[in-house]
Amino acid sequence: MAKGLRETLQVIERHKSTNPQYSELLDILGEILILREEHRDKITKSLFPIDEAHIEAKLQGGLPLIDFSSARIDLEEPKRFFLSLLEIGKKRNPVETEQILKDLADGRLNYEAMVYDSFTSAGEEAGTEGADDDTIDLLKFFVEESLRPSLEFVTGLYGGRITKMGWDEGYCPVCGRMPKIGHLVDKEGKRHLFCSQCGFEWRFRRVKCPFCGNEEQQSLSYFTVEGDERYRVDVCDVCKRYIKTLDFRNAGEEAILDVEDVATLHLDMLAHEEGYN
Ligand SMILES: [Zn+2]
Ligand SMILES: [Zn+2]
Repeated sequence: MAKGLRETLQVIERHKSTNPQYSELLDILGEILILREEHRDKITKSLFPIDEAHIEAKLQGGLPLIDFSSARIDLEEPKRFFLSLLEIGKKRNPVETEQILKDLADGRLNYEAMVYDSFTSAGEEAGTEGADDDTIDLLKFFVEESLRPSLEFVTGLYGGRITKMGWDEGYCPVCGRMPKIGHLVDKEGKRHLFCSQCGFEWRFRRVKCPFCGNEEQQSLSYFTVEGDERYRVDVCDVCKRYIKTLDFRNAGEEAILDVEDVATLHLDMLAHEEGYN
């Protein structure tokens, strides 16, 4: 186990004692992170066809490196990972997971279709006919995670080049997903957005909505919970969307955004209650 992972698991244990309501979820996350590392270590080449010579031109045109809608991608490896993720599901949620496995076996669910649909905003729940709502959530989570090791491999290859040339869109330059969480870094408090689909993070203007590009200060605000300034929710009153922003600069530790995303679900609930999504 790599040092980074060991430290992450320690942070998970700390969160479990301060946020016992998330123990179950954090345990699942811990298991996922161990599996993720195992799978990532086995990857030796990119699954995604990337035209190396035109990376900069593509990004300058506002296009992410990977286009899921047009490219046919060999999903055998992600599917293997998906099936091992379902093993975690089996332990935690046997009835639901058995149903997923049955639906996969008789073709009511199709892994490849779920992957492609997850990248086309309109087809959020396509490919999952017949599955009930709870099943869809667990499924969505596992489908997204199943691509993470392969995508992390790509961020490892090209992330440096992307950072160097800059990217000022609100969606991820690697995979095109919208971020759910970000954090402030450096003395000046630069904002970085984080993509939980591929693990890439990029710098983004602080007073700007990543979702609609709004830069008007009066329609951008944030709220905190019980005055804890380390955790806040940035909201935009133009598009009614929100993003969680962490500021750990005074806490003397680095924010591990995969973990914080799970440990701050109460912020998502609050944002939803306030009418943001
Ligand atoms: Zn991404
Ligand atoms: Zn907005």
